[in-house]
Amino acid sequence: MNESTERLILLCLFLEKREGWTSACPLVINPPATQTSTSAVTSQYTASCSASPLQSPAWPRPRVGGCFHLLHTAPCHPAKMMLAYMDRATAAAEPEDAGELSPATMAAAGRVAAIDFGGLVRAVPAAVVRPASADDVASAIRAAALTPHLTVAARGNGHSVAGQAMAEGGLVLDMRSLAATSSSSRRGGAQTMMQLVQCPSEGGGGHCCFADVPGGALWEEVLHWGVDNHGLAPASWTDYLRLTVGGTLSNGGVSGQSFRYGPQVSNVAELEVVTGDGECRVCSPASHPDLFFAVLGGLGQFGVITRARIPLHKAPKAVRWTRVVYASFADYTADAEWLVTRPPDAAFDYVEGFAFVNSDDPVNGWPSVPIPGGARFDASLLPAGAGPVLYCLEVALYQYAHRPEPDDDEDQGAASVSRRMMAPLKYVRGLEFAAVVGYVDFLSRVNRVEEEARRNGSWDAPHPWLNLFVSARDIADFDRAVIKGMLADGIDGPMLVYPMLKSKWDPNTSVALPEKGEIFYLVALLRFCRPGGPAVDELVAQNGAILSACRANGYDYKAYFPSYRGGEWSRHFGAGRWRRFVDRKARYDPLAILAPGQKIFPRAPAGRPSPCSLV
Ligand code: FAD
Repeated sequence: MNESTERLILLCLFLEKREGWTSACPLVINPPATQTSTSAVTSQYTASCSASPLQSPAWPRPRVGGCFHLLHTAPCHPAKMMLAYMDRATAAAEPEDAGELSPATMAAAGRVAAIDFGGLVRAVPAAVVRPASADDVASAIRAAALTPHLTVAARGNGHSVAGQAMAEGGLVLDMRSLAATSSSSRRGGAQTMMQLVQCPSEGGGGHCCFADVPGGALWEEVLHWGVDNHGLAPASWTDYLRLTVGGTLSNGGVSGQSFRYGPQVSNVAELEVVTGDGECRVCSPASHPDLFFAVLGGLGQFGVITRARIPLHKAPKAVRWTRVVYASFADYTADAEWLVTRPPDAAFDYVEGFAFVNSDDPVNGWPSVPIPGGARFDASLLPAGAGPVLYCLEVALYQYAHRPEPDDDEDQGAASVSRRMMAPLKYVRGLEFAAVVGYVDFLSRVNRVEEEARRNGSWDAPHPWLNLFVSARDIADFDRAVIKGMLADGIDGPMLVYPMLKSKWDPNTSVALPEKGEIFYLVALLRFCRPGGPAVDELVAQNGAILSACRANGYDYKAYFPSYRGGEWSRHFGAGRWRRFVDRKARYDPLAILAPGQKIFPRAPAGRPSPCSLV
């Protein structure tokens, strides 16, 4: 963003205040790629504002090819909808981009910034800024710093569930726009923005490969770019890939690969970050390590990630994917913990698992287990004493060359290796389901869930999710008190319960983990609300009751994607880590401009003491 855009933001906010406009609808600001003079912007903006939309019904039509666009999407009153849209000069040469300028598109851009996947919180920003570069991000932050009250939230893909990427009355940076900027077209832009970086490997004789990716790129885009163009891929993923690189690195980024390859925050070589003082810095474990580790798992508090350098490895061709069923939680956890502590040459590449209901309920029960879909779950194989909740362990072994299946005769075949590795496990014999799928298909498996959820409407319904890390010390008790005690009827969505290793997480990052022991579990209660199901308030209250039970029983746990207020944050981090978090905030975002939706630090007026003294 150039100086003109910075001033435009301030001008817009000034006008908004002067006119007494409410924040019912945010402005959407798309900085131009080329320099636009401040006076041109200002005079066009002012001229447009002086023409009453009531008197000029033709006014809402966007003009393509000018230096910017101003749209009233509702031809009534600016308070209803006022969108300022600055178009890049390249738009004129790209007729398809004109579609992006439709009032409906712009209205949608403003609307989505006020909500998130959780659907529980609504916070309307004053403006949505669509940055085209790290400079734009820096300009927006500096513009906010000039005001006494404005905050700035980076919004990845808005897949938070408690308003973490929102900024009520502030500026929301649409990070997808950063990923979508390219010299020729916005379509498929994230992929054209990615770059392969090769460095000599330590010790010589070969090289390491990295992907330089925009902070607003989706992991799905990273996957397709890496595999299609280079046969390479990152090692660590999330289950669902339509999340942004900057968004998951600000939290952790976990999946079944985490036990072996570490979470996503352990799979980054370098970051480009715009800190809360509006400075753009490149950091790594060797250069500005404090900033690097602060930002990883930092809940967006210290800087906006505009670029990440992700190590790449040879991409497998296919995956042998297996699920087996347990009636006993003790057997399930013993086997899962054994699997995640095997040496690398005897380990699976992926270990996950979930609890499900011992019934034929299509969402919560037996039908949720078989892979591929359509296979039959033979409940008569369950032991007589099986309780109301069962457990499914899920493992995957990567294949690097295409092999015909079945490959029973080949000792090295993934199927036989997988069976050998599973032989000692104590799952219910006969209740095993396996498939060989392409690597990209395996990593994209949740897309099918999304399609179905979109079809039945549950994707757009509220998602009162609860994610916890629970120490292995307390997981059996947690199972008794919470999973069997409170959730035995299921939650209308997956109840993930699987182990990972603390030694794979760098203690210098900002992520808070349970204190005791090497093994802890991810417990993810991924609730999808269905028509006729429990009211959202009830589910939110049940999440509260689960947290209360964890505290009352003295469990060693931490919230993953925490949603706290006030003093709860210091309790979440614990004394030592909280002190470090506060110090880092003072260093990198002294006015507490960034990520206000996390509700950790109040915004400090410019020139006043650091917000950290206020907590
Ligand atoms: P947002 O929700 O937009 O942002 C999250 C936070 O990060 C906000 O505070 C925001 O301000 C900040 N932020 C966003 N971008 C940046 C940036 N570039 N720089 C600095 N701060 C930034 N998580 C897992 O670990 N594993 C999973 O398997 C997994 N599966 C999921 C499946 C679904 C269907 C959903 C909805 C979520 C899942 N998540 C998972 C959670 C996901 O990691 C979080 O929602 C996370 O917030 C990333 O989403 P996002 O990119 O949309 O970020």
